[in-house]
Amino acid sequence: MLAGAAEVIDDFAMFGITALTTGRAFGTLGTGGDEPVHEVMGRWNAVVAFAASRGATRLATSPQVHGGEVHAHGAGWQGWLRATPADGHVSASRGTAIAVTVADCVPVFLAHPSGAAGVLHSGWRGTAARIIERGIAQLASQGAPAHELRLHLGPAVCGACYEVSADVHARLTGIDPGSPATVDLRAIIAGHARAAGVSHISVSSLCTRCDNGVLFSHRCGDAGRQVGMILS
Ligand SMILES: [Zn+2]
Repeated sequence: MLAGAAEVIDDFAMFGITALTTGRAFGTLGTGGDEPVHEVMGRWNAVVAFAASRGATRLATSPQVHGGEVHAHGAGWQGWLRATPADGHVSASRGTAIAVTVADCVPVFLAHPSGAAGVLHSGWRGTAARIIERGIAQLASQGAPAHELRLHLGPAVCGACYEVSADVHARLTGIDPGSPATVDLRAIIAGHARAAGVSHISVSSLCTRCDNGVLFSHRCGDAGRQVGMILS
């Protein structure tokens, strides 16, 4: 497995799908920090090499914009693609790796027995934009219907640690608490997924803030980013 991974999703292995989230031990993969370019790019090259060692000869990523856009990637190309801005990726072609960067926002992993897979970056804006519904719909259009999917909500800021404004709380839950209040993004995303027909759902026990020793957290002041990657 990739050295420095904070979490590996063993549940997907039976589908021939590898999914993981890196952590502080691996080092930052964020391109917006002050770390030397050669160090960040060196880590990305290690991610690409790891994917290749698992049979994935292509890796797709995108600049992330906290939106609801999800790209679908086919076969017939190789290398590392930095696609146009989007916060999610799906692929129904084995030999493909897809990844998002996160540090508090939720890395959302979707896996289908055929090897079709998805990964989404879902912070409060992406969750409000229902990017999970777009990801599920994209996979369904590729022959991987919701009721056959497994969903994992990876390391992210937990419900006890994530306080948002009353306005954001209202947008996410429909309830205006009148003052800042906490929300559990992973529970909200799980609810949206269940409503869309996904019943196999697991949630990471890791919180980027509670477990800040092993994960980067934007709210804790880290400029670093971990990567959530899935490949088949
Ligand atoms: Zn926490």
